[in-house]
Amino acid sequence: MLRSVSSGDGTSGSERNAPASMARGARAMQMKSQATQVKTDAPASSSAGGKKRVYLLSEGNKDMKMVLGGKGANLCEMTKLDLPVPPAFIITTETCLEYFEEGTGDLPAALDYEFALKAIEEDTGKKFGDPLNPLLVSVRSGAPASMPGMMDTVLNLGLNDEIVEGIIKTTGNERFAYDTYRRFLNMYSDVVMDLDKEPFEEVITGIKKRKGIKLDLEMEAADWKEVVGEFKKLNPNVPSDPREQLRGAILAVFRSWNNDRAIRYRSYNNIPDEWGTAVSVQAMAYGNMNDGCGTGVAFSRNPSTGENKFFGEFLPNAAGEDVVAGIRTPQPLEEMATKWPGVYEELYKYQEQLEKYYCDMQDIEFTVENGRLYMLQCRNGKRTAKAAVKIAVDMVKEGALTEAEALLRIPANQMDFFLHPTLDPTAQKTMIGVGLPASPGAATGKIVFTPDDAEVMANMGEEVILVRKETTPEDIHGMKSAEGVLTALGGMTSHAAVVARGMGKCCVSGCTAAEVNAKSKVLKLGDVELKEHDVITIDGSTGEVYLGTVERRSAAEDEDFQTVLGWADKMRKLKVLTNADTPDQAAQARKLGAQGIGLCRSEHMFFEPERISSMRAMIVAEGKGERLQHLETLSLFQREDISGILKEMDGLPVTVRLLDPPLHEFLPHSPDEMQSLADTLGKPFSVVKDRVKQLKEVNPMLGFRGCRLSVVYPEITEMQARAVARAAAANKKAGLDPKPEIMVPVVSSAKELKLIVPRIVAAVKEELDKAGVDVEIPIGTMLELPRACETADQIVGTDAVEFISFGTNDLTQTVWGFSRDDAIRFIGRYQEQGLLDFDPFARIDEEGVGGLINMAIGKARTKQPKTKVGICGEHGGEPNSVQFFHSSNFDYVSCSPFRVPIARISAGQAAAVEVSAQDKLYRESITNVKRSPK
Ligand code: PEP
Ligand code: MG
Repeated sequence: MLRSVSSGDGTSGSERNAPASMARGARAMQMKSQATQVKTDAPASSSAGGKKRVYLLSEGNKDMKMVLGGKGANLCEMTKLDLPVPPAFIITTETCLEYFEEGTGDLPAALDYEFALKAIEEDTGKKFGDPLNPLLVSVRSGAPASMPGMMDTVLNLGLNDEIVEGIIKTTGNERFAYDTYRRFLNMYSDVVMDLDKEPFEEVITGIKKRKGIKLDLEMEAADWKEVVGEFKKLNPNVPSDPREQLRGAILAVFRSWNNDRAIRYRSYNNIPDEWGTAVSVQAMAYGNMNDGCGTGVAFSRNPSTGENKFFGEFLPNAAGEDVVAGIRTPQPLEEMATKWPGVYEELYKYQEQLEKYYCDMQDIEFTVENGRLYMLQCRNGKRTAKAAVKIAVDMVKEGALTEAEALLRIPANQMDFFLHPTLDPTAQKTMIGVGLPASPGAATGKIVFTPDDAEVMANMGEEVILVRKETTPEDIHGMKSAEGVLTALGGMTSHAAVVARGMGKCCVSGCTAAEVNAKSKVLKLGDVELKEHDVITIDGSTGEVYLGTVERRSAAEDEDFQTVLGWADKMRKLKVLTNADTPDQAAQARKLGAQGIGLCRSEHMFFEPERISSMRAMIVAEGKGERLQHLETLSLFQREDISGILKEMDGLPVTVRLLDPPLHEFLPHSPDEMQSLADTLGKPFSVVKDRVKQLKEVNPMLGFRGCRLSVVYPEITEMQARAVARAAAANKKAGLDPKPEIMVPVVSSAKELKLIVPRIVAAVKEELDKAGVDVEIPIGTMLELPRACETADQIVGTDAVEFISFGTNDLTQTVWGFSRDDAIRFIGRYQEQGLLDFDPFARIDEEGVGGLINMAIGKARTKQPKTKVGICGEHGGEPNSVQFFHSSNFDYVSCSPFRVPIARISAGQAAAVEVSAQDKLYRESITNVKRSPK
C-alpha cells in the first residue's frame, strides 16, 4: 500500500466506500446535513473541561485552520457553501497536543466524540457497527499547514467479518465488499499496528501471478475474499469492534504528527512542532464500487503552467490511493466530461465557485459514487514557481486580486526558478525518453537511485537526478537534494509531481518506458542502458529526457515574472543592492535589477594567480619601503577593477570595502609553496617561512583582520583609498557619473575610525585634487561586532562617517559565538532537537541578532538621523530576513546577484502586507454584500 499524497494530509481522498443507501440518499444527505446544523450546535458533551474538542462540519469555517486543520476547516466551508460533502466531525489540533501532553498512549480522557458519530449516523441514515446497515468512515490527519503525505490515514474503518456480510447484502456487490475489507485490513495493519507492508503486497501479487493477471480490476470477488483470508492470517489482531478500530486509528493519526517524515517536513518548511494535527472522521464515499464510480483530483488552473484551464485526472472504478500511487494511469478530466457529462458539469461549477470564493487556485479531491459527486477536499493548490507567477498576473488582469494581494501569493524563495536555466532550444541533444511534464525547469545531473545516495552526493557538491520507479514520502530528503526527479510511474498528481512542484524542483513523472532497477542501479530507456552516475538531462516543462548534458538558458525574461517584479518595485521601500566584486558580476546584477553595490569585497581582486603573487610579495615585504613598492602594483589592479565596476554601475552607488581577511589567508602554507614564493621573490626560504609563522593565528576570524590591518599597516588602506579615488576620477573624466563609497570592516570602536577615516579622507582628497575632478566619496563602516552595535551612536558620531552596513555574517558569528566556518557540524543537530528553528547564518535571528541590530539603529539614528543603514551579509537575499530589515527601517539590503530578484520581491511583499490589509478590508466589505444571505 502506498500512502497517498494528493489529499494534503496523508489522505488519499478516495476509495470511499459507501453503503448503497448512502448513494441513494446523496442529496438527502446534504439536506439532512443542514438540518443537523441546528440540532447539534456545540453539544455539551464535546466540550468537557471548558474545551471544545470535536466539531461537526456545520460548526466550523475556513478561518479555523489552526483549530481544525486546513482540511477540516475547508470541509466546514464547503458544507456551508452547500457543496456535497459527506458528513464528518473534526477532532481539534489542541486535542492532539493534549494527547502528547498526557503521554498515556491513550486518547485524552476528556475527548468524547460519540455525539458526533451519532450526528453522522443521523445524516447518513446508517449505523456505525451495525451489520444490517453499516456506516464506514475514514480517519484522516489534517494539519493547519498542508503537509502532503507526511501523516497517516485509515480508510474504510468500521468493518469486520459480520459487517462485510452486511455490506454484501445491502449493496449486492460482493467484490466491492471484499475489496474494501482487504484495503481496510491492509491499511490498519500498516498505519495503526505498524506491520510490514511487504507480505501483504506479496499475497496480492501471488494471486495475480497464479491467475495470470496484472491489474486489481481483474481480481474477482473470490480473489479479494481469498486476500482477506490471507491478510487475517498475517495479522489476526485487527480489532473487530468498530469503536476500538476508531480509537486505534485516531491514536495512529495523532502519533503520525511526530513520525520522522512529518518532523523532517516541518523542519524544511518552517512549520512549528507545536501546532499538532486535527483528525477528521468522515462517512466514506466510494469510487471503487463499480464502473459508475470513480475518483479524481482536479485543479481550477493548471498547477504546472498556471494556464487558466480546469485541469485534472480521474480513475473510474478506483480508490483515491490508486490515483496517487500511479498503479493505473489516470485519465484526463476531459474524458470524464464525455463519460459522465452531468457530473463533470457539476464539478466544473464547484471549482469555479470555490476559486472565486477563496480567490485562489483550488486543488480539489472528489469521488463519484454511482453517478453522485462528493467533494472530499479543497485547498489552495500547490503550484510551480512559473504557475504561481502566471496565476498571480492573470488574477490581477481578471480583477480577482489587487497587485498587492497577488504579490503576496508569490513564493519569493522559489523565484530562482526564473534565474535558473531552461533548455536551450537550439542545443544539440539526444532524446532517450519522454514522460509527463510534472514540474517545469531543466536539470542535468548524475543519476542516483536512492534518496540517501542523492543526499550524500549533493553534500559532496555533485548535481544529481534522483531516478525512482515512483516516489513516496520517505524520499523527500533525496528529492530535496537532487537537481531534478525522474519517475517511471505516476501521473501529474503523483507524489513525485506534487512534491517536486512544491519544492520548485524540476520533475518528469510517468516515464513509462523507463525500467528502473534500484537494486542493480540501472536505468533502461529503450536500447539505452545507464548506470549510476551516468549523466542525463530532464526537462520538466516538456517531460523529455536526454542523454548527457544539454545547454540551458535563463528564464529571467519571462514576461509575467517581469510584471511581478514591477509590482514589487512599485511597492517596496527597501532598495536592493548587490554584493559584487568584478565588472561581470556588477553587469549581471544590474541586469537583475540591482540598484548599486552594497559590498565589493576588495580582497577578491587579489586572488587571481598573477595578482596573488604581488599580494604575497607585499605581505612578506621586509620594511615599509618594499611594501609600498608592491602596493603600487596592487593599486593598479585595484584601480582597474574598481573602474570597470563603476562603469557597469554608472550612476549607482558602489561600496568598496577595505581589505578584510587575515593576511595569512593569502600566504602559501605547504613547504613547496613557500619555497616557490621565496624563489619568485628572490628571498631566502627562511624569510618566507618566518613571515608565515608570524602571521599564523589560532583564531583568525577574531584576529588580525578588517580595520586592524589598517591600524597596523596604514599604507594598505591609503593605497586602497587612492585606487578608489583614481578609478572614480577616470570615470568622471570619461563623462560618467561614478558614485563610489568606501567602507571600513570589522570595527569595534569609534576610536579605530577616528584613526583610520582621516587617513582615507586625506588620500582621497589628494588624488581627486591631483586629477582635478570633484567626486563625492562617502565613507562608512560595517557593524559586524556586538561592541560596534552597542556603541553605534559613537560610531556614527565619528567625523565623516555617513553610513553603516550590518555585516550579519560576522555579527551572527559573534553574537551566537558560533564559528561561521564550523557551525555547520552541529547546526543540523540543533535543528533536529528543536534548539534552533532554522540556521541563523541563513535567516536572521530576529530575537538575538535582530534585537542588537534594532538597538544599534535606534542609537545611530538618534545621534545622526540621516545615517544611511544597510545590510550586506548573506541574509540580504533571504525572504524572511528581508521582511525583518523592512520592518526595522533599513534603507537597503545587499545580496549576491542571483538573489537580487528574490530580494526585490520579498521587499515588495513586506510593503504589500500593509497595502493588502487595506485591500482585504475593502474586498470583504463588497463581497459580504454579494454573498449574503445564503
Ligand atoms: C559579513 O560579515 O556579514 C560580511 C558581509 O562580511 P564578510 O562575509 O566578508 O565577512
Ligand atoms: Mg564580515
